[in-house]
Amino acid sequence: MEDIIKKADVLIEALPYIQSFYDKPIVIKYGGAGMTDAAIRRNVLEDIVFMSYVGMCPILVHGGGPTLSKKLKDLGVGTKFVQGFRVTDEKTMQIAEEEFMRINTEIVREIKSLGGSAMSLNGDEDGVIEVQKHGPIDGEDVGYVGDITKVNADVLQKMLVGDIIPVIPPLGFGTNDDHAYNINADQVAAEVASAIGALKLVVLTNVQGILRNLDNPDTLLSHVTLAEVDTLMKSGVIAGGMIPKVKACIKALEGGVPKTHILDAKIPHALLLEIFTDKGIGTEIVSSGGGSASGGINGV
Ligand code: ADP
Ligand code: MG
Repeated sequence: MEDIIKKADVLIEALPYIQSFYDKPIVIKYGGAGMTDAAIRRNVLEDIVFMSYVGMCPILVHGGGPTLSKKLKDLGVGTKFVQGFRVTDEKTMQIAEEEFMRINTEIVREIKSLGGSAMSLNGDEDGVIEVQKHGPIDGEDVGYVGDITKVNADVLQKMLVGDIIPVIPPLGFGTNDDHAYNINADQVAAEVASAIGALKLVVLTNVQGILRNLDNPDTLLSHVTLAEVDTLMKSGVIAGGMIPKVKACIKALEGGVPKTHILDAKIPHALLLEIFTDKGIGTEIVSSGGGSASGGINGV
């Protein structure tokens, strides 16, 4: 008996969160090793389906870099990175589009198998994400790497009204040359969150959040402001793949998104824990000081 009462307590504890997030878009970026692990992936998608059923409007943006790298290797196509950007020639772009859409279709299918309603949004073909070609880096042309110029949020809005979870790959449409472009998925998530007026941007990755020392999980920074993040970037504490994530959070905050989070997808139900309880489990990045590590209900 006590057990079931406890379960009811847990549900009631979630009520204020459900109320304040009702009908609100929440953008979730999902990438990293967790994407290819069936158990982790199922956990993440279950959480998203749950969010959708209690009236929130989750939008999923996924990556695919590691999968693409493997595919290119299998096909004997070389990959070169310049400052973290994948040099994307015509052939690489074609393979990238195939791989990203394959992942995308799989995610949509899996959400449906969990009872959710989801739809693919090909950022290129659907014209939802407009880009222009990224300029040369270190004097080198990086090919079909796009910088987002516009997100056509009306298409997304229509899906949300119909209780459909949009699933967005990191692909864009080049308005100058009608070509498909490869975009960093963290950047896509940030721009989508700003354009749709999301209440949160949640970045799910393969580390607990921003660590002061990568080798020591005890150095997790649970609450960071924009000013602090700037210092951490300049001092090199934030490096590698964490840079586009933090930049995405900054961009979203500047675009009016009140709160951004970086979480470990490997923690079972990390999303539900972050959204429905006041236990902050990863790193939250906010515009300015104040608030607590957990944020609480007022901190949405
Ligand atoms: P994703 O595939 O989810 O985009 P990435 O591999 O691109 O993930 O980025 C996450 C990686 O960033 C971490 O695995 C870690 O190696 C690296 N990283 C660099 N600096 C930090 C830091 N200060 N805290 C946490 N991770 C960091
Ligand atoms: Mg990355």
